[in-house]
Amino acid sequence: MATLLLQCLPVALISARALEPVTLQLKWQHAFQFAGYYAAQELGYYRQAGLDVSLREAVPGLDVTAEILSGKADFGVGSSNLLLDRKAGKPVVALAVIFQHSPLVLIAAGHSHRQNIHHLMGKRIMMGPQSDELRAYLKREGVLPAGIKQQTHSFHSYDLIEGNTDAQSAYLSNEPYYYDQLGFAYQVYTPRSAGIDFYGDTLFTSEREIQRHPERVKAFRAASLRGWEYAMAHPQEIIDLILAKYSQKTPREVLNYEAAAMVDLMRTDLLPIGYMHPGRWRHIAEVYAEIALLPENFSLDGFLYDANPSVNYAFLYGILAAVLAVVTVVGAAAVYIYRVNKKLKHSLSIVTQTEQRLKIFSTAIQQSPTSVIISGPDNIIQYVNPKFSSETGYTAAEAIGRTPSFLQSGITERATYGDMWRCLKRGELWSGELVNRRKNGEIYWEETHIAPVKNAAGEITNFVAVKLDISERKQAHDRLAHLAHYDFLTNLPNRSLFFERVIQALALAKRNKGKLALMFIDLDKFKPINDAHGHAVGDLLLQEAARRMSACLRDSDTVGRIGGDEFVVLLPDVAGAEAALLVAEKIRIALNQVFVVDNKILSISTSIGIAIYPEHGHDDISLAKHADFAMYHAKTSGRDNVQVFQAS
Ligand code: GH3
Ligand code: MG
Repeated sequence: MATLLLQCLPVALISARALEPVTLQLKWQHAFQFAGYYAAQELGYYRQAGLDVSLREAVPGLDVTAEILSGKADFGVGSSNLLLDRKAGKPVVALAVIFQHSPLVLIAAGHSHRQNIHHLMGKRIMMGPQSDELRAYLKREGVLPAGIKQQTHSFHSYDLIEGNTDAQSAYLSNEPYYYDQLGFAYQVYTPRSAGIDFYGDTLFTSEREIQRHPERVKAFRAASLRGWEYAMAHPQEIIDLILAKYSQKTPREVLNYEAAAMVDLMRTDLLPIGYMHPGRWRHIAEVYAEIALLPENFSLDGFLYDANPSVNYAFLYGILAAVLAVVTVVGAAAVYIYRVNKKLKHSLSIVTQTEQRLKIFSTAIQQSPTSVIISGPDNIIQYVNPKFSSETGYTAAEAIGRTPSFLQSGITERATYGDMWRCLKRGELWSGELVNRRKNGEIYWEETHIAPVKNAAGEITNFVAVKLDISERKQAHDRLAHLAHYDFLTNLPNRSLFFERVIQALALAKRNKGKLALMFIDLDKFKPINDAHGHAVGDLLLQEAARRMSACLRDSDTVGRIGGDEFVVLLPDVAGAEAALLVAEKIRIALNQVFVVDNKILSISTSIGIAIYPEHGHDDISLAKHADFAMYHAKTSGRDNVQVFQAS
């Protein structure tokens, strides 16, 4: 709808002001031969050009050129013989060629392959006005000037059929149709066979019209050619139009025939409608010269309309200079804009890339499997990721605005924090392990990496902390460490841990000039219990024995298990052998008490040997050896007793 309005708008606006009345004088009666002009009229092309065009058909004998030059009409449809008008001093100007080839031919009666143009010699020929190309043709073929009997054209085909003439000038575009319909045998002679190729229908006007109304001429020509384009693309539509509005004298079939024939004559497949070439006009002038209708080298100056007339060169150069200046400025601006655009594009692409990267970073941090805390230079938290919340139990809202110290458990050594801050203030990355407390009170270990973020000036703007909960790792590590140092059955220190402590205690005792006691304890006749009640019962008895021994000792003492039913006790600070004997007796008596294991009442005794530092040895090995020796002595002394090592 909007498009339609826009299309109609110029017409409406132009109709509002007065249209210039102009007349186009056709060269013949209404026919498809003038289809383009009807189309321009009907489709409003003329009105859009500001013209009120009258299309006037010709009557036989009308001199179209005279009509134009007298001002009775403004534009006319002529043909190649416009050149002859020029020669006669008639200021006609060819505006556009419609037919690239002239439709004018000679049609003779009869149809025999032996017939040729020479058979017209001395024959009667009806020649219409403006048939000069035919004369030239006959001359080239030698038919003229020897002789033909020229007759006035009757414009009745029956004169040929009835034998009133031997040949007629005719239009190839329609007349053969009639003969075909009547079944009349005929022969067509075309000047093109002799190399004479005239233009056909040519739109023309007068020099005066061009001088007085150059715009009108331009507009009329353009609208007419537009009409022709339409007409040749929609021939049936124009045929309907001709029959409805212009004339019914020519039957539809003839109009169809004419439209088809015109396609060949107009060569719309090769050339734009209206095209004319000075070379073709030169050729036409030369043909006219052959028959002495034009002088040799007849000037075409002023005859060919220039749709885009040249202008005063000084003026042109002025314009050119101005255009160049504008082009330079615009060019410079364009280059500048191009560069700015390129930069902008580049910047935009960088911005886009940066945005994309930021998105990736942001997503990566959001979905990071480690806790992330971003704090400001004052260490106030600005951001925590979801993992932080799931790990600590604190929501982002609870964390943001506080320093991370609310996570401290009090277990991490103060020195660790001191080391951390010294490192960060130097602008270096700090890595370490912290023991923190979750919101639910639970203690956890975390491996922490904190990086200071600096701006271009080198100032710290943020701290980014990446934290990994290593509690499980720590626990596993601790479990392994425990397994390495503790007996799995009784949970007492094993041989390695026990003797580590012996070594430490010896060092301390040496420094303090103190004494320590080492006991070797072996259950008596334990194997028979295993054998009688099973290994599991024996295990339970060993566990209970371990508990009883621990209960007889102080926290600073150590009891360990170094073999099946072999235990060791370290008294790191003891007065002497007497004191150690008291502890050993306490143990022996404790283990002498019945064991209730798996609803079984079991009894066992114990043999214990004691070695004292420094009396019985100065190192772990000799002390152990001597304690073991004392224990063996207890065994051999009837078991269930305690022996202090004696060198003898
Ligand atoms: P003795 O009075 O000479 O010490 O006699 P004994 O039967 O206690 O003999 P010995 O100390 O030489 O043997 C220790 C026994 O302890 C051997 C083994 O059957 C048992 N034993 C060793 N380790 C374990 C253990 O982990 N669990 C159980 N249930 N028994 C163990
Ligand atoms: Mg034993």
